[in-house]
Amino acid sequence: MPSAASKSPPARSLVAALLPWFAAKHRDLPWRRTRDPYAIWVSEIMLQQTQVKTVIPYWERWLGAFPDVTALAQAPEAKVLKLWEGLGYYSRARNLQKAARQVVELHGSRFPENFADILALPGIGRYTAGAIASIAFNQPAPILDGNVIRVLTRLFALGGDPKEKALQHRLWTLAEELVNTAARIPPPPLPAHFAGPCSALNQSLMELGALVCTPRRPACSACPLANRCLAKRQGTAEQFPETKARPETVARRFVVAVLERDSRLCVRRRPEGGVNGGLWEFPNLELAPADDPSSTASRWLGIPPDRFVALRPVSHAITKFRIRLEVLRAAVPRRFTAPDGGEWHSLEGLDRLALTAAHRRIAGQLASNPPPPAA
Ligand code: SF4
Repeated sequence: MPSAASKSPPARSLVAALLPWFAAKHRDLPWRRTRDPYAIWVSEIMLQQTQVKTVIPYWERWLGAFPDVTALAQAPEAKVLKLWEGLGYYSRARNLQKAARQVVELHGSRFPENFADILALPGIGRYTAGAIASIAFNQPAPILDGNVIRVLTRLFALGGDPKEKALQHRLWTLAEELVNTAARIPPPPLPAHFAGPCSALNQSLMELGALVCTPRRPACSACPLANRCLAKRQGTAEQFPETKARPETVARRFVVAVLERDSRLCVRRRPEGGVNGGLWEFPNLELAPADDPSSTASRWLGIPPDRFVALRPVSHAITKFRIRLEVLRAAVPRRFTAPDGGEWHSLEGLDRLALTAAHRRIAGQLASNPPPPAA
């Protein structure tokens, strides 16, 4: 168990070391070349749960399609979901649009600058509001994400679970102290595209966590805070932050039916409100551990088991679930009725629909596999 902080480094010396480091070493990311709060907001939402290199093309396509809040507010939801396809956690895309509509209605299409107004928008929590307020408007609003938590718990050798209230409060207070200090002291020269020292300070904490103070084997020798860091001094960096063991994963298996009728494929829309609500997928059914996919699909769909051709199974994970999709393809006669309110679309037509990521991988197999023999 790491020991508690003994002598904490003063905020001023931390800020003075972080700002020049960030000015020299920051990654040139497209959303760092703008101060447009809308563009920064979109990047922050996309970056939740998703890596930078994945987000870049999505962010560029999104800004191309919806260059401002008005364009996003007016867009059809199907287009919004399609542009989000593959990023997962689709409530993020829906909330972006809901919030864009609020900005249009309540703020005359101008993204609000006031912290409380930003925080009041759907899908924006304290972290995202702080990121927008500081990065776009250089306000001394603190931020606390996984990277910042890691840096701060190590710097100050703070034991305990960061999800617990007392440590959360302590971390927010430290983050606030740092950004307030950045607002007060004379800043070093910063690139012109940064809104100011509060913007740079918050981003420097995130950048340090992403590039240097990594979860495993932090590069302390390259860290601008190395001689001020308590965990480094104690040789305990990797013990922070203390995290609870993850819940055990649960294995689930589904059979997915890729049904073809007159060169059209059957897909259905997932119900609103649930996981991946509103996205499209091939009809599927959960299997019990001992179930055979072909016989189960045969009973479910009334198709003889020998009509199915197996495609490559697809594995993916959602929260604690490890999911394996057993994929069976079959041609069905014209009189066959689509199961579960499914619709028939051509393979090219599927490109225009927002499919779940796992089912998009299934669709990707179809072009390179010969169609099944006609029923
Ligand atoms: S010295 Fe090491 S542990 Fe401390 S903040 Fe820097 S990278 Fe992280």
